[in-house]
Amino acid sequence: MFQKILVANRGEIALRVICACKELGIATVAVYSEADRNSLHVRFADEAVCIGPPRSSESYLNIPQVISAAEITNVDAIHPGYGFLSENANFAKVCEASEITFIGPRPEVIEMMGEKDRARREMKSQGLPTIPGSDGVVEGEEQLAKEADRIGFPLILKAAAGGGGRGMRVVRNKQELLPAYQTARSEAQQAFGTPDVYMEKFLEHPRHIELQVLGDQHGKVIHLGERECSIQRRHQKLVEESPSPAIDAKRRKELGARVVKALEAIGYTNAGTVEFLMDTDGSIYFIEMNTRIQVEHPVTEFVTSVDLVKSQIRIAAGEKMENAVGEMHFTGHSIECRINAEDPETFVPSAGRITTFQAPGGTGVRVDSAAYSGAVIPPYYDSLVAKLIVKGRDRAEAIGRMKRALEMFVIEGIKTSIPLQRRILAHPDFAAGKLDTHFIEKLINTNGK
Ligand code: ADP
Repeated sequence: MFQKILVANRGEIALRVICACKELGIATVAVYSEADRNSLHVRFADEAVCIGPPRSSESYLNIPQVISAAEITNVDAIHPGYGFLSENANFAKVCEASEITFIGPRPEVIEMMGEKDRARREMKSQGLPTIPGSDGVVEGEEQLAKEADRIGFPLILKAAAGGGGRGMRVVRNKQELLPAYQTARSEAQQAFGTPDVYMEKFLEHPRHIELQVLGDQHGKVIHLGERECSIQRRHQKLVEESPSPAIDAKRRKELGARVVKALEAIGYTNAGTVEFLMDTDGSIYFIEMNTRIQVEHPVTEFVTSVDLVKSQIRIAAGEKMENAVGEMHFTGHSIECRINAEDPETFVPSAGRITTFQAPGGTGVRVDSAAYSGAVIPPYYDSLVAKLIVKGRDRAEAIGRMKRALEMFVIEGIKTSIPLQRRILAHPDFAAGKLDTHFIEKLINTNGK
């Protein structure tokens, strides 16, 4: 097992990884930017190294700085968390070259899944259904027109290197096609450094369903059930749950078996999430795979009793699946609300000092957060302040528990999305499990009615 791990991240996920290391008896090194001197991940790690100015490009994304910190503190492994360098194949390669274990899949696999059109083709060839779309990247106007004719409208243009809900453009008719293609290409170039885009049929009212997987280094892959993440705003998830009200045990078993087979075929290792869209007729299509731990992993931990981050570490250290994961059984229902520092109506980010932070507790409630009374939310990073996760014996109990936990969560000094989360949880369609990715839009447009 590793002696010491560097956590190349900040905020709640850095703390989450530190918790896992402490429980495994592994020493930790935090890295931090000048804006994060007073952060909890710095306080709770055994050692901490400042890696640069507040801007992430100069600190958390600065590979030479992170690697130097790892070398001077003599760590065996690096956990990248999510975001930042977690899906950067080059970083994983540099770790390997420096003889530091990267806690994640092999660089080639990260690379393959990072090129979304390639991932799509690969998973299709391994037997997973994909949304009808272009055969790879759309090269030029002629192919654009031809493929659009074949696929039909509406369709969606997606940046091949996209992520985080960015770089997507819906096209409703022929007139919009060429201008949308040109804008999508230049936006993709700007945001991701490559103009490549591909095309998919646009599903009007899909549900977002994803499968959590783990693969060990001995060829074994398992799935840990699904999460439903249909409650999104601008393709960013706000509420997640497991299991999905739209998946029954038979479907879970079938889908799980197909995913496991596909991932074993490509030699997938460590934690990952295979994302699908479910159409209104119940058909399920692969859209992409994330090769890292996800923000919403705690709902899976609640319903399976598996510690996913500890499993990641044990797998990276070479342990076999049975040992790394322990016993798994699905029980109950779990929901997570992402509490963001933002205005609940305008969604404008709300950085600043938190004057009061009083988290709820009690049976079946978990709060993953690096916030505290007096902490400052800097403007440089994402706006997640806390994740509120509950477990109930069934969905109805989980909803009731989440409602009371949201009511008892006091965050003052900044604006948060708690009022919006309360409206979501109180909505009859949410209670009925009638979800799709336009839920929030509809909620806002109808003012919650
Ligand atoms: P990212 O890598 O940026 O997260 P994804 O491909 O995972 O992008 O898509 C994010 C979200 O965008 C999905 O959860 C869904 O809401 C929406 N979306 C993506 N593809 C389609 C599609 N073909 N039809 C309808 N909505 C889509």
